[in-house]
Amino acid sequence: MTISVDGFDNEKDKSKENHNPSNAEDNHFDVVIIGSGPAGYTASIYTSRAKLKTIVVSGSLPGGQLMTTTEVENYPGFPNGINGPDLMTYMQQQSERFGTTMIIDEVTRVDFNSRPFKIFTGSSSYTSDSVLISTGATPRKLGIKSEQEYSGKGLSYCATCDGPFFKNQDIVVVGGGDTALEEATFLAKFGKTVKVVHRRDNLRASKILQERAFENPKIEFIWNSSIIKVTGDYKKVSSVAVKNMNTAEEKNLEAGGVFVAIGHEPNTAIFKGQVDLDEKGYVIVQNGTKTNIDGVFAAGDVHDFKYRQAITAAGFGCMAALDIEKWLSEKRSK
Ligand code: NAP
Repeated sequence: MTISVDGFDNEKDKSKENHNPSNAEDNHFDVVIIGSGPAGYTASIYTSRAKLKTIVVSGSLPGGQLMTTTEVENYPGFPNGINGPDLMTYMQQQSERFGTTMIIDEVTRVDFNSRPFKIFTGSSSYTSDSVLISTGATPRKLGIKSEQEYSGKGLSYCATCDGPFFKNQDIVVVGGGDTALEEATFLAKFGKTVKVVHRRDNLRASKILQERAFENPKIEFIWNSSIIKVTGDYKKVSSVAVKNMNTAEEKNLEAGGVFVAIGHEPNTAIFKGQVDLDEKGYVIVQNGTKTNIDGVFAAGDVHDFKYRQAITAAGFGCMAALDIEKWLSEKRSK
């Protein structure tokens, strides 16, 4: 798949989609990095710069979640902010500068039971002495048509990223877990009002976050309700329609911003049975970025459900690269 972002959509990059090495040696890498968000790209900058033969298999949307983000104001080094796609393109180019091979393809299967590890995509397969899992997590969606229409136009999945764009506006947050209440409290610093729309009449969130939200005069709860439609002028959200699940009553809430905080799904389906995952499907790491399989590492939102920031994912990517370098050199010196 080719996407129309500077740095990807050119003849050179089109050839990457069809990368089909002719012999096993070309196909073998020191490090295969699965996923191309900030974690994967940062790791690849470090491993390539350390002269490890590195390939990034990017998935069908190179750059990950930030490719659908407009302005990023909290990534250090960009005093005037930067577009998400630009940031990811710079990371990709920085990595290629040190020799990383970039492949736009989905990994469909992995085999971590034998050495070297095997990684299969739709059109090719690779072997590697080490693997980094950096496939990220996907925010859960409401599943209504207007959600997609207004995503990035006032509808967001990250308050830390986008909250400051909604100063003095009416804001709606959807969800009843820790994230929803943490985001509501954070958004109350900027917004005129914050309404938390939750589908039940009690919250899943921890007591301390509940208390903080209940005490905040700007935060109001709309119980037993779901958002059925997001409306606006197709450039920006202006209201949401909510429906009470018990009474079927519908009402409109004015909203300049809508934050969907109903959880994330880690992108780990292909790793089930290959590495240890927790009950929610996140990769379990120990001693930094190690998984239970010696030589397989994980970095970013695929294991970190707490911080979920571009900068923390990049930090985990750096840690993973250093762990991989050390692990490979120890194995090879034996
Ligand atoms: P979560 O705990 O899974 O909560 C998701 C919330 O969204 C639930 O209230 C759920 O409703 C609601 N929901 C799910 N699907 C929905 C849908 N289709 N429509 C409407 N509502 C829907 O997710 P999270 O809040 O992102 O937290 C994830 C993990 O990170 C948790 O373990 C949490 O404790 C942790 N976390 C911790 C902190 C902290 O300690 N400061 C901060 C953030 C997150 P129901 O309640 O009805 O199921």
